[in-house]
Amino acid sequence: MDLHFTASVETDVERSAIDGVLGAAGGWSGGHDARERRHLLLPVLHAIAERVGWISAGALNYACRRLAVAPADAYGVATFYAMFSTAPRAPGVLHVCDDIACLNAGSETIARRLGDVFGPAGEPAADGRVTWLRSPCLGLCDRAPAALLTVAGDEPVARQIAPLDADAAVAHLQTGNAPASAAAPHVGGAPLRLLRRIGRVDPESLDDYRRHDGYRALERAFELGAPGVVKETLASKLLGRGGAAFPTGRKMQSVAGAPARPHYLVCNADESEPGTFKDRILMEHDPFAVIEAMTIAGFAAGCERGFIYLRGEYPLAARRLAGAIAEARAGGLLGDSVMKRGFAFDVEIRRGAGAYICGEETALFNSIEGKRGEPRSKPPFPVEVGLFGRPTIVNNVETLANLPWIVLEGGAAYARLGTPDSTGTRLFCVSGAVPQPGLYEVEHGTTLGTLLRLAGGIAPESIATILLGGAAGSFVSADALALPLSFEGARAAGATLGSGVVMVFDAKADLRAVLLRIAQFFREESCGQCVPCRVGTVRQEEALRRLVGAGGSARTASDLTLLDEIGRAMRDASICGLGQTAANAIASASKDLEAFFASGAP
Ligand code: SF4
Repeated sequence: MDLHFTASVETDVERSAIDGVLGAAGGWSGGHDARERRHLLLPVLHAIAERVGWISAGALNYACRRLAVAPADAYGVATFYAMFSTAPRAPGVLHVCDDIACLNAGSETIARRLGDVFGPAGEPAADGRVTWLRSPCLGLCDRAPAALLTVAGDEPVARQIAPLDADAAVAHLQTGNAPASAAAPHVGGAPLRLLRRIGRVDPESLDDYRRHDGYRALERAFELGAPGVVKETLASKLLGRGGAAFPTGRKMQSVAGAPARPHYLVCNADESEPGTFKDRILMEHDPFAVIEAMTIAGFAAGCERGFIYLRGEYPLAARRLAGAIAEARAGGLLGDSVMKRGFAFDVEIRRGAGAYICGEETALFNSIEGKRGEPRSKPPFPVEVGLFGRPTIVNNVETLANLPWIVLEGGAAYARLGTPDSTGTRLFCVSGAVPQPGLYEVEHGTTLGTLLRLAGGIAPESIATILLGGAAGSFVSADALALPLSFEGARAAGATLGSGVVMVFDAKADLRAVLLRIAQFFREESCGQCVPCRVGTVRQEEALRRLVGAGGSARTASDLTLLDEIGRAMRDASICGLGQTAANAIASASKDLEAFFASGAP
């Protein structure tokens, strides 16, 4: 083993944080057992960061000795994730979202004020105790502008704050605290299925969940038997809601029939697409439903163990899911024999640490395994070789949330909802220039205009543009209000539903800044593994800056051509979906850039 340790030694506090995850060290603990625990590297790095605020060379040395990981390897992991710092960082940090929804809602005013009071982003303020950072989307777009406060220490603080203004941002950072938001999220649509318990059920009470029909679906799943659940899911024609739209029943069927053991289930809760907050609301306000849905999917596919890969910026979801798992275990709903049916299944939460690419399923596997979150080449596909090299079913939160309904009502009844090719309902994250931003559940095929009316409506002439599907989606104009929101409807219009983002911009929006922020986002989030994406996202942003710079006077045909060529190269030659879609939104805007810019204030 090639281990090159420096002379740096961990502090008592760092040692205690690491031992808190790995248990107390009994002398040298390298070797096979330690290597088996490599997957604990991210939890260990989180523990150090939460206790101290940053990851020192001494702490990394100690963690590497305990886990038998080469320090250079662990350093590569620690520096991959934006939430970790290997340079000294103040313990109190306000992460200010400056992504498109917050940008449009005044995040620059907050950033300027923080700069005036505390100094430049990333630099410790005069007392050395606090700093502030810019952040990509925090998944709080329905209440923009937003921030995340983290304070390292013996009792670490992690709190989402939205909406906030400049005065509140300064106060929260100075005091190192912020009140928990008591407001229930706004949900709309009728009749609600996936969202029916949001705001009605106590998310911290298993008893209350059961009073609201909780765990009836799992009972029904046991009655149907695993093949019966697979059959109903196939009949439902449920397609994955994460963007790829793969049939969920076929994944289940493949994993169920895979001879290699064990089988894993992964709930992809790394919701990081700018503009997306649907999975957060499900996890924060109906966490038992997520656990029940995972148990049903695990039962159907013969999985022994489930992981929820949760984005690191969702502390409330982490707390509520952890509480739900603990209560479910205590109630015999997870463990060696779920509901005394002889089915052994348990669920563990793994937190991401600020890397959009980890929403890609194979990058996510690498991250759980304690590695850099870089996508793997496919094939082999996860149903054959997934997490830890074993057959794995991976679905996002919304996809899984459909299963209880399918099991209870039957696949055929589910398939009658929506359109023949896009069955069921869909969650849409509506934000921006609408009277009532929030999470809306509508049947597939509902038009974009109807959805916007549910959100309070906006006159077509007031719409500058609408971002559909997220940063990897596309801009559409008010002409698209008749667009049916279905997989095939979006495809026919050259758009995508993506992660269900519908962000509305009116004439007050600075669309130049929005486009640049999208280009910056992809440049920052590219994992750098393949050239078309690593170089293309940089060149794309440069060309766009030239086009929009100096009030647009430098726009040239050659830069438009360059944008088009870069976009095609990334789409055709990138390894994963990030590179393949990084030009989508910009390409949709640049079809008529002059008109697009003319509709936004400079
Ligand atoms: Fe990484 Fe981009 Fe290549 Fe995906 S396309 S593997 S994000 S460099």
